[in-house]
Amino acid sequence: MGQKPYPFTPEQLAWLHDLETTDAPQTRGALHRIVKTEEFPVGYCCLGRAAVTLGLRESPWSEDEHLIAFHGSAANLMFFHRLHLRSASGDLLHKVEDLSALSELNDEERWSFKEIAAYCREHPWNVFTDPLAKHAKGCPWNPKTGESCNCGFFKKDFSL
Ligand SMILES: [Zn+2]
Repeated sequence: MGQKPYPFTPEQLAWLHDLETTDAPQTRGALHRIVKTEEFPVGYCCLGRAAVTLGLRESPWSEDEHLIAFHGSAANLMFFHRLHLRSASGDLLHKVEDLSALSELNDEERWSFKEIAAYCREHPWNVFTDPLAKHAKGCPWNPKTGESCNCGFFKKDFSL
């Protein structure tokens, strides 16, 4: 895709740098899994590293000890909007390997953190929305209340 250069934000670059350099183990199906199961090792998924990079605290009220939630990340998408991801699962504008989200590339294709970071750097417009774009007039989206976006802001292809 011939595209205009993507205006990476400092938070996005910090996340990608974390994925490229962290020694943290990688798991699947959880932001941060702290108890090994027969199926899954302990570790983070790529979006769990996003939560860490953003400085989110792990919830002490997480009911499932295997699936650590970060404050706000499950119920409220605003933290992921800070990274201008297309959803809390890292939805992709166009499918990759027949998969539609970063979480699936992590969980199903089992891409490494480094592979996920490399993809995001190479195809940022497929992963991120435009941090400089504006919501349509009248869109009720409010980062403080976590209102959803009516104008499709988070799905738009701003590379065109
Ligand atoms: Zn909107």
